[in-house]
Amino acid sequence: MSLIVHKYGGTSMGSTERIKNVAKRVAKWHRAGHQMVVVPSAMSGETNRLIGLAKEIQSEPDPRELDMLCCTGEQASVALLAMALKAEGLDAISFSGWQVPIKTDSAHTKARIESIDDKRVREHLAQKKVVIITGFQGIDEQGNQTTLGRGGSDTSAVAVAAAMNAAECLIYTDVDGVYTTDPRVVPEARRMRVVSFEEMLEMASLGSKVLQIRSVEFAGKYRVPTRVLSSLTDPMCDLAEEKVSGTLITFEEDENMEQAVVSGIAFNRDEAKVTIRGVPDKPGVAYQILGQVADANIDVDMIIQNQGTDGTTDFTFTVHRNEFNKTMDLLKNKIQASVQAREIAGDTDVCKVSIVGIGMRSHVGVASLMFKTLSEEGINIQMISTSEIKVSVLISDKYMELAVRALHKAFGLEKEAA
Ligand code: ADP
Ligand code: ASP
Ligand code: MG
Repeated sequence: MSLIVHKYGGTSMGSTERIKNVAKRVAKWHRAGHQMVVVPSAMSGETNRLIGLAKEIQSEPDPRELDMLCCTGEQASVALLAMALKAEGLDAISFSGWQVPIKTDSAHTKARIESIDDKRVREHLAQKKVVIITGFQGIDEQGNQTTLGRGGSDTSAVAVAAAMNAAECLIYTDVDGVYTTDPRVVPEARRMRVVSFEEMLEMASLGSKVLQIRSVEFAGKYRVPTRVLSSLTDPMCDLAEEKVSGTLITFEEDENMEQAVVSGIAFNRDEAKVTIRGVPDKPGVAYQILGQVADANIDVDMIIQNQGTDGTTDFTFTVHRNEFNKTMDLLKNKIQASVQAREIAGDTDVCKVSIVGIGMRSHVGVASLMFKTLSEEGINIQMISTSEIKVSVLISDKYMELAVRALHKAFGLEKEAA
């Protein structure tokens, strides 16, 4: 009898009808002889609604209280799902993160899981119950409830699967797998039957919201077999078929994967660009600027320092859009004077588009095809960053869809790999 973890996202839990379908699907797996742990998200829109309420009251909501508030979304989901399972004739029990407990650090709104004690969960599984655990949340050492960042239920599910040594973690969502790019932007996008762990990690870190990056990190670190599949199929569909549907994250590079040079395109609209102009061009400037940004707990992504002219240089970097105002304040009120910069500028209408593929390691000319494709569409590149298996460009937000579609075509992604 194997232990299986199912995760259901917001859309999958979006109405009582959908919750009843989730219960039917879970019951089917349970009746086939599996021990089942289920990790649902809040009903779709609920987390946004709660954050909206908070912002009506406090423009920058207190992080601890925001976590208290947002934890209620998943708490409602687990209770409703437990009821739906009982209505299906199964025994089920729901737990909040703190009841398990799932222990995290104290970084409210972006906490990291530190440990999971599975004793209580195992006791109930042994009594043949389905155990339902809230996604997205945990408890810190001081007993405060914490949340794991947007999309964090993926991470809860994979972390629970890792801690309990589950046979598989199935991430049920509103698309039937991981595609070459977001199928909502490019209808010709192709579902991948398998995706390598490294590519999935890169896609997630570059903005493919189908999996939260930390869930992919957990899957890799603990080698959790993880599959992304649809929750919108008939819940009573054939189990054997369901088990092999969707996209499996693989940890070995098989020969089929070598063929695609670029296997996916990711985009991220969550970044903003800031520029510091006319900084004296001398040793230590990058440290003086970015050291202060890091001290303020602001994560920096892309960075460019221009070639200096006339003894001064310009310095540009990107931050999360949520931290744009905080970064601008820091630059204007503190850093500008300390590095004697001439001017500070910011732009939130930017988007990062990335091509990803482990095949890039052994191929040249990938970046130049990307640049050629964008130039043919008249899209100006503002920043570039590369690694062994990706090339990212920062462009104007208004060209995002055009860029993704053109690149998807240029790299032949809609075609089945030969
Ligand atoms: P859930 O609520 O189930 O967690 P999310 O909205 O977080 O669902 O993630 C699923 C969404 O991810 C899809 O609806 C799709 O629009 C988006 N997405 C982005 N990139 C991809 C991709 N490469 N493959 C599949 N879906 C993607
Ligand atoms: N409900 C949370 C969110 O909307 C967590 C999740 O859905 O994974 O971000
Ligand atoms: Mg999600």
